[in-house]
Amino acid sequence: MKYIPYGYHWIDTKDIRAVVKALKADFITQGQTVAEFERRLAAYCGAKYSVAVSSGTAGLHLACLASGIKKGEEVITSPITFVASANCVLYCQARPVFADIQNDTANVGPEEIKRKITAKTRAIIPVHFTGRPCDLKEISTIAKRRGLAVIEDAAHALGAEYYGSKIGSCQYSDMAVVSFHPVKAITTGEGGAVLTNRKDIYEKILMLRNHGITKESQKFIANQSDSKYPWYYEQQLLGFNYRITDFQCALGLSQLRKIDKFIERRRQIVAEYNNFFSRIDGVSVPEESPGSRHSYHIYVVRLKAKQLIANRARIYAFLKSKNILPGLHYIPVYWQPYYRNLHWYKQGLCPQAEKYYSQALTLPLFAKMSQRQIEFIKKNFSQALSRYRK
Ligand SMILES: *Cc1c(COP(=O)(O)O)cnc(C)c1O
Repeated sequence: MKYIPYGYHWIDTKDIRAVVKALKADFITQGQTVAEFERRLAAYCGAKYSVAVSSGTAGLHLACLASGIKKGEEVITSPITFVASANCVLYCQARPVFADIQNDTANVGPEEIKRKITAKTRAIIPVHFTGRPCDLKEISTIAKRRGLAVIEDAAHALGAEYYGSKIGSCQYSDMAVVSFHPVKAITTGEGGAVLTNRKDIYEKILMLRNHGITKESQKFIANQSDSKYPWYYEQQLLGFNYRITDFQCALGLSQLRKIDKFIERRRQIVAEYNNFFSRIDGVSVPEESPGSRHSYHIYVVRLKAKQLIANRARIYAFLKSKNILPGLHYIPVYWQPYYRNLHWYKQGLCPQAEKYYSQALTLPLFAKMSQRQIEFIKKNFSQALSRYRK
């Protein structure tokens, strides 16, 4: 590959062997491997149930449907996230409401959430941005007091911990959604999962993943004479085909065995980066929140010196000329043309988020990085900073 990207997967020969084996099985979709992956994932996170789906976005959509979000209702989320965190609300014909981020963590803040609650609010979707857990205790207290659902967008945070439990344990939420896109902690190519401790939600999401169909006789609701036959099934809800394949889950199972190693490696690289970049004036490096363990999905530095902020595009271009491809996570969601055209949002809505966006830059971080690549990035980024601080 020509560039060092901001994120990258790590697939080894064991992973490849696991997928090849799965491809030789009788069922390459809707077989046993999906269920086994779901069991292992739930056990890893410490949740009772998990449902694997075709993408993290599909998981967010089903999570919104399962919590009963309806037309005209409001759901509070962060503006500094991937568009999927808010799009899932629009899929339900509800309205995403953006609460501002905290300046220090860049996560959506409990006080900011409180200020956005109205009579129409139905749920909160906190995003553990970059893999740094949100203030879940506070958010869950706010939600419980008002009867709101909490759906964690944990796409960045598989492997992170919050006060002794894994993100995905759903100790402070109704559901948590993870993603297995190749830049995330582990991959299935495309894929995602919804974790929950609630049996009712689990069963609903299982059905919604497969067109709203059930084949279990004890769940049938129609009083039909045909229901005694083995071919009988019922569609009870309007669901989707959000299924994942068995060979993807074979990859997921193989990857899940290595997740702790992956996260540990990410943390080592961050320690090295932080040690180096924190000594440079005019930038700030990511930190860990008290009581939590960061999973470091991405490494975002913030440019603090005025000249560096003004020269960010030049810094980006300098790195690109060295074949380092930084990222920018994220443009405030409501700045997107689609959202602007909805007329509910205008520039200036979330000042902290907009300030954050003017300062952020994502440097490459992935478990498979070599020491040479790390040194190369340290050298070139510090060069860019000294060159453009004037
Ligand atoms: C990756 C991501 C998603 C969506 O996951 P996909 O598997 O790509 O659909 C949702 N939210 C956030 C914050 C993400 O980074």
